Amino acid sequence: MTSEAAHSPDRCGFIAVLGAPNAGKSTLVNRVVGTKVSIVSPKVQTTRARVMGIAVQDRTQLVFIDTPGIFEPRRRLDRAMVAAAWGGAGDADITLLLIDAERGIDRDTRAIIERMKDENKHAHLVLNKVDKIKKPALLELTTTLNNMGVFDEIFMISALKGDGVDDLVSFLAGHMPEGPWHFPEDQVSDMTERLLAAEITREKLYLQLRQELPYATTVETETWEDYDNGSVKIEQVIFVERDSQKSIILGKGGQQIKTIGADARKELEEILDRRVHLFLFVKVREKWGDDPDRYRDWGLDFDA
Ligand code: GDP
Ligand code: MG
Repeated sequence: MTSEAAHSPDRCGFIAVLGAPNAGKSTLVNRVVGTKVSIVSPKVQTTRARVMGIAVQDRTQLVFIDTPGIFEPRRRLDRAMVAAAWGGAGDADITLLLIDAERGIDRDTRAIIERMKDENKHAHLVLNKVDKIKKPALLELTTTLNNMGVFDEIFMISALKGDGVDDLVSFLAGHMPEGPWHFPEDQVSDMTERLLAAEITREKLYLQLRQELPYATTVETETWEDYDNGSVKIEQVIFVERDSQKSIILGKGGQQIKTIGADARKELEEILDRRVHLFLFVKVREKWGDDPDRYRDWGLDFDA
């Protein structure tokens, strides 16, 4: 530690990560935190709630607010997710707008920028997935975005591979307000272990199931039992909307759910650093998307 760092005051602040679905927001937050706090899949709208991922650099605590993507909502759940995303920006000291550089300025991203303009909001632009795009195209996109008048700084990163992420984090650390840390120094997320465990299983569903089916599912941790030998027994329910969906998730001879359970258990054991006995059950609950209880668990506003 330099003598300057030793005398520097504590800093702590909130950084909202906004962007269209699939821009790589959760991938970025997991990388800066250094462990999985928010689930990731190639499917859009994987993140349903606002998740805080906490990173520390020297005497600065950086609290990243991962948000559900911002897009044109159709269902009630969509509306609640988009409201949570904008709410995340309202609470933050700094807002990052993440854009998939390969995808460029799509309709969702354009709508986000328009709303920022309307509300006179500023953000730093983070062009992600630069590993997938050639320099000239990247420069052209940067120029176009720069001319929109919404962005203060521009960063180019690959959240997946790590390029540019350290520079981004250093910049952010230097711009956090002075003040005491909001969380204990070893805390990485605001999520309970029960919720994280349910999210991990939901991620495996997103990775295993095709097309629209994941959106018809939700996962809840029903019981959590710590054993004296250090292992834990976790029982979870996967809710679906229809009987036909249930049989797809179970798969032939229960093969599909076996794979999902095995993948989830493996990752949970890594994250929790203990043996996990995971039991999955599938239940039909026709209208879980209209059930206020589901929203409360995620901290979403049912009436958004
Ligand atoms: P979110 O919806 O914005 O949270 O996006 P996710 O973090 O869930 O990522 C969506 C997909 O993009 C996943 O398949 C990620 O592996 C992928 N992804 C994220 N960042 C990068 C990146 O920098 N490069 C590449 N090639 N893929 C990325
Ligand atoms: Mg996400």
